[in-house]
Amino acid sequence: TAPTAAAAPAGTSRPDAPLAVVGRDVRVPLVTGGEVEYAALDYAASAPCLQRVWDDVSAYLPYYGSVHRGAGYLSQLSTDLYESSRKTVASYLGARADDVVLFTRGTTDSLNLLAAALPAGTRVFVFETEHHAALLPWRRTAEVTHLPAPGSHAEAVATLDAALAAAPADGPRLVCVTGASNVTGELFPVRELAATAHRHGARIVLDAAQLAPHHPVSLTGLDVDWVAFSGHKLYAPFGAGVLAGRGDWLADAEPYLAGGGASKSVTADAVEWNTGSARHEAGSPNVIGAYAIASACRALTEAGLDALAAREDALLARLRAGLADIPEVRTLDLFGPGAARVSVVSFVVEGWNSSRFAAALSAEYGIGVRDGLFCAHPLVRRLLGGRDDAPTECGAPDAPAGEQNLNAIRVSFGAGTPEEHLDRFVGAVRELVRRGA
Ligand code: PLP
Repeated sequence: TAPTAAAAPAGTSRPDAPLAVVGRDVRVPLVTGGEVEYAALDYAASAPCLQRVWDDVSAYLPYYGSVHRGAGYLSQLSTDLYESSRKTVASYLGARADDVVLFTRGTTDSLNLLAAALPAGTRVFVFETEHHAALLPWRRTAEVTHLPAPGSHAEAVATLDAALAAAPADGPRLVCVTGASNVTGELFPVRELAATAHRHGARIVLDAAQLAPHHPVSLTGLDVDWVAFSGHKLYAPFGAGVLAGRGDWLADAEPYLAGGGASKSVTADAVEWNTGSARHEAGSPNVIGAYAIASACRALTEAGLDALAAREDALLARLRAGLADIPEVRTLDLFGPGAARVSVVSFVVEGWNSSRFAAALSAEYGIGVRDGLFCAHPLVRRLLGGRDDAPTECGAPDAPAGEQNLNAIRVSFGAGTPEEHLDRFVGAVRELVRRGA
């Protein structure tokens, strides 16, 4: 059982937002003088920590010990907490009885782990709209078929169907798909893509980094073979993530990392590797990260992801309507403005360099958004008009003020975001546009 001794540290709990987050009381200076409550509108990069996660982790911090390695009370307590966190995540993800849940460093790590575990000769199918974490790992270990950016859900399914039908069917095949785009926020038809993959004898892994914070993600419900997500986007910081799903490829693969925990018996020239989750979790596990993820899963379940999504949908509609009212703003959409989506919106502003615009939102209004190509270069370049000479991820803050559209601005939000932050954001965009670059 988790200790309950430590008093909860101070956080902010507001009636206007379910699932209170910490950090809402952070105030930042403005170049125009004075200071303002920071409006964190970059949840898609890293979401703030839930008050509940903060409380749970703080209560546990005085008691942690080494997982799977100690005879002492605190080591046993930590091992229990770590393994019960695995069970919580398995149940949160609707895992099948024989699925494994691995704690990793995040989505990037999870997908690299799976890429390293692919059977020889695997062919991977991936849309070029993916985040680099889902686009790149396969290039190291598999033959990759890149699928062109789809213009609709039906086109996504048809494109995958055709590619699987055309490809040689003699080896293992894996489809990698994102649940919600980190650029446009748009949902992909995961269930239909999974059914298509399975009909062709392929497996499918879901990158749920952006989907999991907003909608339930179920291995069985969506019928996907694996799912990957990051704790720090799911309101649980501390550098942990999850890869959950089928155990067979993972059981047959070389351990992801060689070291303690992964090894069962070692001599000077031989090693017998462990089975199960230990095989791919070498080194001292991140028990606090795993516990934070489990705590977030519990809090989200109790608050109800559907209720959370309904609130976010209403705020998103209001935000998009506000932006649509400003003719100089162009939002970036793959499937069109009416598509189902999570609370992530990317856009460019006519006459403005995106990096300068984002910097002005921060310095003059205390609003934190992101600018750049969002680790999805092929997609953002396509949405910006196909330019291939866009600068690197860091954007181009020194570009001339009028030079625009080499990168984009992204606003994203979730639990704990008050309406005032979004209204301040839309008002700031309107003012900056009126004022000009
Ligand atoms: N996939 C998507 C869709 C993402 O948005 C991100 C992060 O932005 C990742 C994968 C990578 O997540 P992490 O940086 O936590 O490994």
